[in-house]
Amino acid sequence: MPTTARQEAIKSIASTKHVLNRVDFKTTHVKDLFGVNVFNEDMQRARLPKPIFKALQKTVKTGATLDPTVADAVASAMKDWALERGATHYTHLFQPMTGITAEKHDSFLTPDGAGGAVAEFSGKELIKGEPDASSFPSGGLRATFEARGYTAWDPTSPAYIAENPNGSTLVIPTAFLSWTGEALDKKTPLLKSMDALSVQAARVLALFGKPGQRVITTVGPEQEYFLIDKSFYYLRPDLIATGRTLFGSPPPKGQELEDQYFGAIPERVLAYMAECEAELFKLGVPVKTRHNEVAPSQYEIAPIYENSNLATDHQNLTQEVLRKTADKYGLVCLIHEKPFAGINGSGKHNNWSMSTDSENLLEPGHTPHENAQFLVFTTAVIRAVAKYSKILRLAIASAHNDHRLGANEAPPAIISIFLGDQLNDIIEQIEAGGAKTSKQGGMFQTGVSVLPQLPKEAGDRNRTSPFAFTGNKFEFRAVGSSANISGANTVLNTIVAESLDYIATQLETAIKGGKSLADATQALLPGIIKESKKVVFNGNGYAEEWHAEAAKRGLPNLKNTVDVLPVTVEADTIALFEKYKVYSAAELKSRYNILSEAYTKAVAIEGKTALLMAKTMILPAALRYQKDVGESIAAGKAAGAAQPAGVEVFGTLVSTINELLAGIKSLEKAVGHEAAGEPYDHAKFARDHIIPALLSTREAADKLETMVSDDLWPLPTYREMLFIK
Ligand code: ADP
Ligand code: MG
Repeated sequence: MPTTARQEAIKSIASTKHVLNRVDFKTTHVKDLFGVNVFNEDMQRARLPKPIFKALQKTVKTGATLDPTVADAVASAMKDWALERGATHYTHLFQPMTGITAEKHDSFLTPDGAGGAVAEFSGKELIKGEPDASSFPSGGLRATFEARGYTAWDPTSPAYIAENPNGSTLVIPTAFLSWTGEALDKKTPLLKSMDALSVQAARVLALFGKPGQRVITTVGPEQEYFLIDKSFYYLRPDLIATGRTLFGSPPPKGQELEDQYFGAIPERVLAYMAECEAELFKLGVPVKTRHNEVAPSQYEIAPIYENSNLATDHQNLTQEVLRKTADKYGLVCLIHEKPFAGINGSGKHNNWSMSTDSENLLEPGHTPHENAQFLVFTTAVIRAVAKYSKILRLAIASAHNDHRLGANEAPPAIISIFLGDQLNDIIEQIEAGGAKTSKQGGMFQTGVSVLPQLPKEAGDRNRTSPFAFTGNKFEFRAVGSSANISGANTVLNTIVAESLDYIATQLETAIKGGKSLADATQALLPGIIKESKKVVFNGNGYAEEWHAEAAKRGLPNLKNTVDVLPVTVEADTIALFEKYKVYSAAELKSRYNILSEAYTKAVAIEGKTALLMAKTMILPAALRYQKDVGESIAAGKAAGAAQPAGVEVFGTLVSTINELLAGIKSLEKAVGHEAAGEPYDHAKFARDHIIPALLSTREAADKLETMVSDDLWPLPTYREMLFIK
C-alpha cells in the first residue's frame, strides 16, 4: 500500500536528527551578548561627540524635541558602527495598520561621480524616509493616487542590526505618517498616548509635592505560542493560509491530565528557546522567563518590562525571532490566538504600570491604606476601566481573538477588574468613609520542618480576570497572542490619562478652595469608587453565573469583533481621543474601516481555505472510504451473508457525507457573496454567514475524521500535530 504524505511526515519526524547545539552559553556569556547589535546608550556615548550624545539622550530620557542639527552626526556614527558590524543596507522599520512591521531596505552605497561608490548615510536619511504608502491600509484616510507617506525616526527606540547570513541591515525604528500628517501606523498614537498620560500624571504628582515629573508607562508582555513540527505544518493548508486549523477532531488525550503546564521542556524546544533568547539578547530585548504552557505543545516567553514604546518594538521583534528561529529546528511557531479548537488558545498578558524615573506609581508599599498617592493612581485606573470598558474591549478585538475570549480558558469578553483581597478590602473601606487598615500577608507555614518559612502575599491570584491587579501593576490578560500590543497600550494610557485629568482637576479645585490634600482626597475617592465598582469582580470569570451577574450590573458583553467595532466611531470615543490628541476623528474613522476590512478578510480567507480543503481533501477521502465499505458489503453479500458487516457504518457514512456536502454548499454560497456596502457591512456578513457555514462544514468533517480509515485521511490530526515531537 502506498504511504500517504501524512505517514511520510511522521516517518521523517521520527528519523530526523536536528542540530541542536547552535548556541552555547557555556562559551558565550549572556553579558557579552546582550545588546551587541544595538546602537544603545553605551554605544552612543562611545561613538558620539559629547554635546550630540547629550542632546540625543535628553530626547530619549525627557521627551524633549530633538534638535535636528544633531541628526547628521548621529547618522554618521551610526553608519560607521553598522558598517563595522557587516551591514550593507539600512531600513526604516514601521508598523502600518496591518499590525505587523514593514521595512524597505536601501543600500548605504552612493555613486561617487567617478565611477566608484562610497558608503553614505546622512541625517536627512536617518530622520525621514518616504515609502510608497499606497499599498498599506489607510481606511480611507488617503486615496491611492495620493501615495505620499513618511517614516520619521523615533530616537527613543534605539537602532539595531538585523543579522543575515549574507550581510546585515541597520534597522531604524520609525513612525509612519501621511503627507497630510495623519498617523498611518501604530507607533504614533502610542507615543501620543504616553505623552498625554505623562502630562496628567505629573499634575497629580505635583499635588503630592513632586513637581516637574515625567511619567512613563511600563509594559511587560508575556507571549504564548505553539510549536509543531514543520512536516505537519506543510500538510495543513489551513495553518499555512490562516494560522489556525479549520478542521480537526479532538485528540483522545488533550490537556485534561494537566501534565504540560510548567512540565519539563522537550530538548528540541529548549534548544530552540535558547537560540531565540540569544538572538533577542543581541537585540537588547531583556527576555527572562520561559516555560511550558497549559495546552500540549504550548509555551511562553516573557521579558523584563520596559517603557511602553520600547516594549512594543521589542514585542514585535520577539514575535519575529520566534517565527524565524523555529525553522532552524524543523519547527513552526504558531502565534495565532486559537490554532487548535478545544484546547487553550494563546494570549499575551500585558503587564502595565506607570512610573517616574525612581518610583513605580502602582507600588502599594507595606501600608497601602496610608499611601494616598498609590490609592489615587489605583483609583484612577479602576475608574478608567469602568468608564471606558468598551474601548478596552475594542483594543483587543480581532477575528482571531474572537475564538479565544470567552472560550472557557480565556477571560470572557466582559471587561472586569480583579483587585485581590488586600486592595479590594481597602477600596471597600474608602467607599465606607476612610481606609484604616491593610490586610497583611505575613508568613506562610509550610508545616514541614526542613522547609523555610515563606513570606506570603497579601492576596491570592486570579487567572480568570481580563484585567487584574498583580501586586504592583495591572495585567491586561485579554490581549491576543498575535496582536501588536500598541493598540491595547494606547487605549490604556489614554483612558487612564483622562481619569488622572479628572482627579487632578477635582483635587486642584478643592485645594484652591482651602482644603488640604488629605481632605480633598478623602472627599473625592469614595464617590469615584461608588461609581466604578460595578466593574470590580473578584470571582471566577469563566463561570456562567458571572455572565448573569455582569448583565445585572449593566456591564457590556460585546461578544465578538463585529459587536464591538462601532465603538471606534462613537461620539464618546472620538471626544476622548481628540481631547488628548491621540487620534483625530478622521484617524478613528480610518481605523474603523481598517479593522472591519481586516476582519472580513481574515474570515473570508478562512472560508475559502475551508472550502478548498473540504472539497479537495476531505470529501475525496470520505468518498473513497464509502467505496471501500460499499465493496466490502457487496463482497459479503456475494459470499452469502444476509446482513454483511458494515451496513450500519455505510449508513452513517452516507449521512455524514451528505452533511459535509450541505456544509460545502452553504460555504460556497457565503464566500461567493459579492455586494456593495461599507467595510463594516461586509464584516457583519462574514460573521453571520461565512462563520456559521464554516462551522457546519467543520462539524461534518470532524465526524468523518473519526470514521474514515486512517490510511485514507489526508490531514495530520490533532493527536499527531500536538503530540509527535
Ligand atoms: P507574574 O508571575 O505575576 O506574572 P512576574 O514578576 O513574572 O509576575 O511578571 C510578569 C511580567 O510583568 C514580566 O514581564 C514583568 O517584567 C512584568 N512587570 C513586572 N513589574 C512591572 C511593572 N511595574 N510594569 C510593567 N510590567 C511589569
Ligand atoms: Mg502572568
